[in-house]
Amino acid sequence: MIKVGIIGGSGLESIDGMVFDGETALDTPFGAPSSPYRAYGLGDCLFYVISRHGDRHVIPPHSVNYRANIYGFKLLGVTRIVTFSAVGGINPAYGTGSLVLAGNAIDFTGGRANSFYDEGSCVHVDLTCPFCPDLREDVKKAAGLKGAELIDGGVYVCTNGPRFETAAEIKMFAAMGADMVGMTMFPEVSLAREAEICYASVNVVTNPAAGVAAERALTADEVTEAGAGAAEGARNIISGLSEILKEERGCRCKDALKGSFADK
Ligand SMILES: [Zn+2]
Repeated sequence: MIKVGIIGGSGLESIDGMVFDGETALDTPFGAPSSPYRAYGLGDCLFYVISRHGDRHVIPPHSVNYRANIYGFKLLGVTRIVTFSAVGGINPAYGTGSLVLAGNAIDFTGGRANSFYDEGSCVHVDLTCPFCPDLREDVKKAAGLKGAELIDGGVYVCTNGPRFETAAEIKMFAAMGADMVGMTMFPEVSLAREAEICYASVNVVTNPAAGVAAERALTADEVTEAGAGAAEGARNIISGLSEILKEERGCRCKDALKGSFADK
């Protein structure tokens, strides 16, 4: 059984052939995860789904216990994580409702517990490519297989939130090469690397970022439509993954801690 973690991505029950396999509430040395892990079987895959912001969506991005969430996946034996998140579009080519597979990322967060190794060991994981190249290919193939449109690549800048960005900040992020902005990528992605779990990030553009489309107002209909399109895209990608993922991992994520200890 290939164990795949899913963060976000609701409505999995409506995937053809998906079988609910119970839920697990975990406790970890880093505290409680945001929600129970709900298991769904499909093909050779067992998908463990967690709500990053809690089941009632009451945990803001800067208060999410990222360490507990990722550690919980590790305890369950998950080897790959695919996330589905909402972002603001900085790149003007991203229309509302676009699905974007992040290619790299910039961390503008602060004050978040961002490592499993706070004391006792000095660990520096490599994050040159924050996303697993093999899992990214698998997600692209899965989307292609099911006819989901997915933009390949783009830089995700992660702000601390919970406030939205100023127009000047977005202008700066654009100059730095960012294509989309969100609040949850860090430290989630680097903790996954510390846990030697492959990680790929699918993002739905729910609105243009501050100042990107100042002359037009976003309508509620657009947001609803974007949300519905994203849920459909997520279901297609998860369904496709169940057909193409292989148990064995050929990437370097599984050995991410090798050579990462600076201990003397
Ligand atoms: Zn990997």
